[in-house]
Amino acid sequence: MKMGSHIDKRRKLAASLTRVRVFDVICAGAGAFAGSFFTPPQTGVICGFTLAIAARYAFQGRRWQSDADRLLNEGERSAGHRDGAGDLSDTGLLERLPIPYLVLDSESLVQFCSADARLLLARDPVGQHISTIFRAPSILHAVTNALRFGRNDSFEFTALRPLERQLHASVRAINDKADARKSRVVIALQDITRLRQVDAMRIDFVANASHELRTPLTAISGMVETLQGPAREDTANHDRFLDIIARETGRMARLIDDLLSLSRIELEANIAPTEPVDLIAIITESVNAMTGIAAENGNQITLDMGEGQGIVAGARDEIMQVFHNLISNAIKYGDAGKPITITRHNRAGGIGISVRDRGEGIEAEQIPRLTERFYRISKASSVAKGGTGLGLAIVKHIMSRHRGSLEIVSTIGRGSTFTVWFPASPSK
Ligand code: ADP
Repeated sequence: MKMGSHIDKRRKLAASLTRVRVFDVICAGAGAFAGSFFTPPQTGVICGFTLAIAARYAFQGRRWQSDADRLLNEGERSAGHRDGAGDLSDTGLLERLPIPYLVLDSESLVQFCSADARLLLARDPVGQHISTIFRAPSILHAVTNALRFGRNDSFEFTALRPLERQLHASVRAINDKADARKSRVVIALQDITRLRQVDAMRIDFVANASHELRTPLTAISGMVETLQGPAREDTANHDRFLDIIARETGRMARLIDDLLSLSRIELEANIAPTEPVDLIAIITESVNAMTGIAAENGNQITLDMGEGQGIVAGARDEIMQVFHNLISNAIKYGDAGKPITITRHNRAGGIGISVRDRGEGIEAEQIPRLTERFYRISKASSVAKGGTGLGLAIVKHIMSRHRGSLEIVSTIGRGSTFTVWFPASPSK
């Protein structure tokens, strides 16, 4: 608005310079008439005319001067607002900028603190010395350098209060060369704790996955060397060595399949499936596919699906994988010869399917860790049973993509129950 009115005034001023008004014509006429009384009359007319025009522009000039002065004053005033940011802080805009930042004065005392910084620090630090807010030497050093030498700096540091957190700080010096007491330091903060945790998880995951793949690979290459060398003529043992190679190759293939499944599910983690699928039909199909393996272990699978349909919004193949993983765990870790029961539960807004085995059960402190990638209670037992350590991690990810959940209940000596809960489909 202000900018527009300045431009309008300047335009008017320029227009008045070029426009010949009725007033100008009257002045010229009056000058010419007065000049006609002089001799020779032509010279008098010209002189009178010229004088009248000069007087007109002298009068207009004074108006331009006062308009120009007024414009200059207004301009200075609005520039003053920009420099002092008076208007901005009055509206609370600086405080509400969605960045945690502090402004320190030349004594390293907090002069200004944004609302986000107050949240991050869980207090209002205005008036406090920076050393009482952060103990990290890096930040104190950066503030000293900014105030003394006008140096900017960016770095990460660990803040211990109110919680241990990894923060990134950008320290910017605003130095006043004429008066050092007017120098300021701005510290913009960013909480990168989650980012660093994700980095650490990624590094761990790559290390674990490489280790898991390396173990069968080492076994395979050992067997191949044996077959090529010392056991070349030992035909009686060839089948045994080839069996080991086949088993380890299968383990590598399962591991790669599980890794690919995990990354596919993670890629779509934020997209909830919308297709209506029939849970009961999927469970029946999964059970039919696994009856053979269960029978080899002497397990009988019983289904109790209750009444009515079990329609949920879901991705069919992923739900198949959930039941495949839970039922195969019940076969692997449940006792041989004992039944496995699959039961449907209804509760407000959701359908639950539980898979119960009568195995050894799981210690309570192990339960929260079972869905971590590669976490096993006994690695030897998992590997011997063809496990990859990723089955429950996959179940957890699929359930979270379906906006559902996984519950694990176990009693030592009596077995475990794994229940997956799906939100009921709105179309049900
Ligand atoms: P794995 O491929 O090793 O079976 P999972 O992610 O499926 O990997 O399971 C992780 C671990 O949880 C297993 O190694 C096992 O120790 C434990 N576990 C899973 N299901 C059961 C169960 N039904 N009973 C007892 N322990 C189980």
